[in-house]
Amino acid sequence: MQSKTVQSDDLFKCTMCGDCCKGYGGTFVTREDIEAIAGYIKADHESFILKYCEMSGGKPVLAQGKNGYCVFWDKICTIHPVKPHMCRQWPFIKSVLADTDNWYVMAGQCPGIRTDVPANLIRKCVELELSKSG
Ligand code: SF4
Ligand code: SF4
Repeated sequence: MQSKTVQSDDLFKCTMCGDCCKGYGGTFVTREDIEAIAGYIKADHESFILKYCEMSGGKPVLAQGKNGYCVFWDKICTIHPVKPHMCRQWPFIKSVLADTDNWYVMAGQCPGIRTDVPANLIRKCVELELSKSG
C-alpha cells in the first residue's frame, strides 16, 4: 500500500456486525447529537434524555435495551443518518494518535479494522479523518 494513496476505506470497512453497539461502552451524546437524533425520531430534547439516555460521569450516554445492545440497534443502526459523533468517528479517533497500538487493540473488538497496515499509514489516515471532522 502506498502511503500517498491511503484512504479510510483501505483501513476500515464496517461489516455491520453490531459488536460495537453492544455492551456498556458509553456512547456519549453531545448537545448536537441529541438535537439531531431527537429531531429524527420526533422527540423533544427532555423526553429524549429521559427515555433513551443514561447518565455517566454527569453526561448522557445512549441507554441499552434488555438485550445489551444500544437502544437504537435493531439488526442495524436505526438512527444511522444522525448517529452520534462518537459512532461516526470510529475508528478514526484521537486515542490512536496518542498511541497507534490502540488501533490494533481496537481491531480485536472490531472485525472491520485492518491490522496488516503499518502504524505510520494508520497515523496518517487517522490524522486526515480527524482534520475533516474538525
Ligand atoms: S464492531 Fe466494527 S465492524 Fe462491527 S458494526 Fe462496529 S464498527 Fe462495524
Ligand atoms: S447509535 Fe447506532 S451505531 Fe451508535 S451505538 Fe447505537 S446502534 Fe450503534
